[in-house]
Amino acid sequence: MKLSTEEFRKALLKAAAELEQHKDELTDLDREIGDGDHGINMSRGFQAVQKELEAQEEYEDLGALSKQVGMTLIKTVGGASGPLYGTAFVKFAGAFKGKTEVEGQELAAAFKEATDGIKMRGKSEFGQKTMVDIWTPFYEALEQESDLNATLDQALADTKERVATKGRASYFGDATVGVQDPGALSSSLLLRSIVEVLS
Ligand code: ADP
Ligand code: MG
Ligand code: MG
Repeated sequence: MKLSTEEFRKALLKAAAELEQHKDELTDLDREIGDGDHGINMSRGFQAVQKELEAQEEYEDLGALSKQVGMTLIKTVGGASGPLYGTAFVKFAGAFKGKTEVEGQELAAAFKEATDGIKMRGKSEFGQKTMVDIWTPFYEALEQESDLNATLDQALADTKERVATKGRASYFGDATVGVQDPGALSSSLLLRSIVEVLS
């Protein structure tokens, strides 16, 4: 699997469109097991990212692109998810520094670093019904070169049945079982958009 700077830029524009399309669904899920702002938060952040990516068509490398996206998300998203997504992209920036193209195990390692960044920032682990439940199997599938979209489908189905034990959703306890975590859904939309451009 290979990712170039232009492919990553395209994937992020696709993600912005997907998140916009799912804005109400994300907000409705967050209304059930949160405070009802996840769609709004993601829309605000990724609309700002889209604007920047449309204004600047060329990036020096994957690192420069990731850094700009991370900073924009931290500045605009707010909530718990802003710093978490922001940290993921800041970690990408470190892993992708000076590279215009990344592939194979190096690409998998970058996604592991991004996931570790989210876990560290959120003091969270796999299995707590958060976005980490999506990012973890995703980087493992990259490492093992298994089917990425099938992995995302399975990860979404699995996390839906868990009890939330982290973040705002944890206040809802057992009522979270059977409800999709909004951050898990937004992460799957972002990662699916990236899968589409991998060659
Ligand atoms: P807030 O909860 O502050 O309103 P959002 O609604 O934008 O923020 O984001 C909520 C999502 O963030 C959750 O659905 C979950 O996936 C993710 N999340 C929240 N707290 C954590 C955490 N500590 N670690 C990992 N992910 C988290
Ligand atoms: Mg919320
Ligand atoms: Mg909030």
